[in-house]
Amino acid sequence: MSKVVKFGGSSLADATQFKKVYEIIKADQDRRYVVPSAPGKRFSDDTKVTDLLYQAYNAKNDKEMLKVFDLIEERYQDIIEGLSLTISLEEDYKEMKESFSKKIGIDYAASRGEYLNGKLLASYLGFEFIDAAEVIFIDEHGNYDIEKTDPVLSQRLKEVECAVIPGFYGSLNDGSQTIKAFSRGGSDVTGSIVAKNGKVDVYENWTDVSGFLMADPRIVDNPDVIETITYKELRELSYMGASVLHENSVFPVRNEGIPINIKNTNKPLDPGTLIVESTCHKPSHVITGIAGRQGFATVMIEKDMMNSEVGFGRKVLQVFEEHHISFEHMPSGIDTMTIVVNTHDFIDKEQDILAGIHRAVQPDSIELESDLSLIAVVGRGMKASRGTAARVFNALAKENINIKMIDQGSSELNIIIGVRNCYFEQAIKAIYGEFC
Ligand code: ASP
Repeated sequence: MSKVVKFGGSSLADATQFKKVYEIIKADQDRRYVVPSAPGKRFSDDTKVTDLLYQAYNAKNDKEMLKVFDLIEERYQDIIEGLSLTISLEEDYKEMKESFSKKIGIDYAASRGEYLNGKLLASYLGFEFIDAAEVIFIDEHGNYDIEKTDPVLSQRLKEVECAVIPGFYGSLNDGSQTIKAFSRGGSDVTGSIVAKNGKVDVYENWTDVSGFLMADPRIVDNPDVIETITYKELRELSYMGASVLHENSVFPVRNEGIPINIKNTNKPLDPGTLIVESTCHKPSHVITGIAGRQGFATVMIEKDMMNSEVGFGRKVLQVFEEHHISFEHMPSGIDTMTIVVNTHDFIDKEQDILAGIHRAVQPDSIELESDLSLIAVVGRGMKASRGTAARVFNALAKENINIKMIDQGSSELNIIIGVRNCYFEQAIKAIYGEFC
């Protein structure tokens, strides 16, 4: 058996955290491939090394750049001293300062956080260091190039027993050897790519929470941890605002049937959350989780005899398409059709879109409201059980919350409810209270 272990920034923020990571890796021989992030925050108003690197690179002159660079050096020197390592990063610092001064690329700058942390961790663990720039190839849009990466990376991993491969970056796939980074949080993606190419059994993603929570802890006190969640459920919850993993980190492992285990570096014995393709494990509650987002607008279009006008829906949606607005939901009545959109994307284009709809379908009226929150109640357990929707609606009715929109797809994986923004938190609490 073999495992990839990815550690987030807070898990590697200082020497104390490095020691915990060491214990975790050494406790299980299967933990063969290690993917580190750059040192993250040590306390709540601390600055992540990646952010310091961006600041240093963007400094207005060399003097300012060197000032920020001192802070970066200090972070790594503290770790080196705290762990009594003999490795020196002096050469790397020198090369980085020169390259920053020559402005060789922002992605190069950002990537050095993971690069240096990877070197330190490899030396501490006695593992081989594999520079991600040699084995991971990324296109100009920040997506990993499967064809270029997979043969090189899988071959390289075969040659090593244990290795550290820094997260977040690789090389541009045009052969230029330019460093290219994924989007922020991208070490999760590296972990997934390494898991796929190392053909491992589990991808452990170590962070500072004991797994995926059933609801946002800023809204619900002490929500339960989800023990097992499917990729589909995760996608629904993540889309609606729950975030633990980088969005793109699921695809490489999902196609290989490799589960992801979210684990807590500070509480390594907690089981965490297992993310799987499909499972017979019954969720402990009928619902797996609740997530939501505020800031949606509705465009309600009314026209007598709309139902008999073939092509009405297509013409309306075409107006949104022409303005590059993606719609979230589309509840409809016989003579009404409502389009739910993200207010932020819509607001600047609203008048053009209204005019476009008038021209396209000559409605009797159009009403706009911009005060909608959407809440997703997600769970594979809903499919087989009756009364889930009734319980959701009852919970909201008891709290005197008016439901403005309901959407349940035939996959029965989720029920989406729209409420006014002012009821957002109250509604999530009420639904959570009903099921947990
Ligand atoms: N260090 C990078 C960031 O802060 C990437 C990562 O941690 O995954 O976004």
